Amino acid sequence: MEDSNPSPQGLKVWVHRRRTKMSNSNSATRGKPLDLIVVGGGFGGMYAVYKFREMGLNIQAFEAGGGLGGVWYWNRYPGARVDLPSIDYSFSFSKEVEQEWTWSEQFAAQPELLRYINFVAERLDLNKHFQFNTRVTSAVWDEARKLWVVKTDKGETYEATYCVMATGPLSVPKEPDIAGYRKFKGEAYHAARWPHEEVDFAGKRVGVIGTGSTGIQIIQEIGPKCGELFVFQRTPSFTMPMRNQKLEPDYVAEVKRNYAGLREAARNSAVGGLRPQSTRAFFSVTPAQRRSLLEDAWRQGGLAMLGTFSDLLLNAEANEHVAEFVRGKINEVVKDPVTAEKLKPKDYPIFARRPCLDTSYYETYNLPTVHLVDCFEEPIVEITEKGVRTEGREIELDMLIFATGYDGLTGALLAFDVVGRDGHTVNEKWNEGARSYLGLMMEGFPNLFMTTGPNGPAALANIIAISENDVNWIADAIVHMDRQGLCAMEPTKKAEDDWMAVVASLAGRSLLTKAKTWYLGTNVKDKPQGLTLFTGGFHKYREYCAAATQNGHANFRFEQRDKSAAA
Ligand code: NAP
Repeated sequence: MEDSNPSPQGLKVWVHRRRTKMSNSNSATRGKPLDLIVVGGGFGGMYAVYKFREMGLNIQAFEAGGGLGGVWYWNRYPGARVDLPSIDYSFSFSKEVEQEWTWSEQFAAQPELLRYINFVAERLDLNKHFQFNTRVTSAVWDEARKLWVVKTDKGETYEATYCVMATGPLSVPKEPDIAGYRKFKGEAYHAARWPHEEVDFAGKRVGVIGTGSTGIQIIQEIGPKCGELFVFQRTPSFTMPMRNQKLEPDYVAEVKRNYAGLREAARNSAVGGLRPQSTRAFFSVTPAQRRSLLEDAWRQGGLAMLGTFSDLLLNAEANEHVAEFVRGKINEVVKDPVTAEKLKPKDYPIFARRPCLDTSYYETYNLPTVHLVDCFEEPIVEITEKGVRTEGREIELDMLIFATGYDGLTGALLAFDVVGRDGHTVNEKWNEGARSYLGLMMEGFPNLFMTTGPNGPAALANIIAISENDVNWIADAIVHMDRQGLCAMEPTKKAEDDWMAVVASLAGRSLLTKAKTWYLGTNVKDKPQGLTLFTGGFHKYREYCAAATQNGHANFRFEQRDKSAAA
């Protein structure tokens, strides 16, 4: 099977030589340092394992879950579904996988996504490289030996020249910062750690805390199934109709015939996918035309609203017009005017928080058994043994569901000791906010790579497209080092500073900074705040990544391998 992602000139030759060398030697024997360790078994980790294995590297991967899939392994909550088109939200590197797998829906649900993940794993024989149910507890750079020493919660120690942190931007669920969180005696679930067994809602009084993308999906799914549902809403979200569809065989066949071109178009787009985009500024057309374009997009559903105008995240006045349009739609659906008013987001720009796609979210509030508790009017005081105590009352519940989000972007790497040059930790480095070069590497942490890391475009573009880009970039870096006889690589301080300046300058122009979100770290107590995302678009990000290796690698500091040691 061949990797159909774009590769640098000469990679195939290098891989051929490497494989020949590997098969002629016993260098993969136990006890010797590995070439590369991968941490994480989501999309990034899966592709990393495939890519580096195919390059002939001696690898080991670790995953805390019992199987592959990352968020799709853990997030089995009712209603979990991707909000990007399935045909985009899939690996592009394998033509065989693309042709053999068939998506059934425009926006696939979690069980189908997990089936896809397991199909890929089986087809490409990936599972054997992963040690599951294993958490990495530390990764320490050994300066003298130029390798990473990685320890796991199984008491094992591994060593490798390279370490790839494919730990994902949304892998650490946020513990709700509510007094008495663990006191509740009924059934309690966190959406991001949903049990594998069926959960029964019938006849039960259920509370859901959180109304982000996760809460919205849960609420619309379980609302009709519960005896009574209490939704504890602090900040309302903007949500738009998904209008999900079954995919017709003719359409799927057409996609498969044209996949190469579709993937190329996705790679060259700002979002790494095929969603509609516009070059039309909001005020460049008449009010009647604007209304008509918004109505069309609303009817079309999915991501169409995001493609109506080019300046929705740049022009606050334009943004407010679109926000008001969506608020008007809430009035059209929700029958009780008081509830409708409470559901309207009013104090942040639309799209500055992740826009949600729903099928029946607002309709759910028309059910007599569904109650909205506005936590601004009636703040939660504590969780009790019986339920939730607000300032006005105690709401007794049989089940409590936390959809309270994640310690995003940085949580996973800060959850264990990552120690670089001179004993400096990532915790120290990110003390005032996450720093990186391209979201891929950090000064002071040689041979440590991240996929979808902070200060890259994670969360703002297709995570699978970013993962593929990042793994390919790392692969090129490794080939370069091997060819040049180099044993250590890290970005210069200047390269990192310059990149952080680019990220900050773009962020300064974007309305994304005007909402409290996990993008900015405002959702986690004491977390440094700031937009650690590259907002310039995936296509531009790829250009920066390519430029970093095309200018003679001037942005990196390398160390030469000791020739006598290598011989
Ligand atoms: P989120 O967007 O961070 O939402 C968390 C929710 O919990 C917010 O409504 C928050 O209110 C509330 N909350 C947190 N602590 C609370 C407290 N102490 N009291 C009351 N409310 C509290 O998290 P999420 O919904 O899990 O989504 C995270 C990201 O995952 C999304 O942005 C998206 O990127 C991804 N996601 C994608 C999909 C999909 O593809 N369809 C589905 C789910 C998630 P405040 O805002 O007031 O803090």
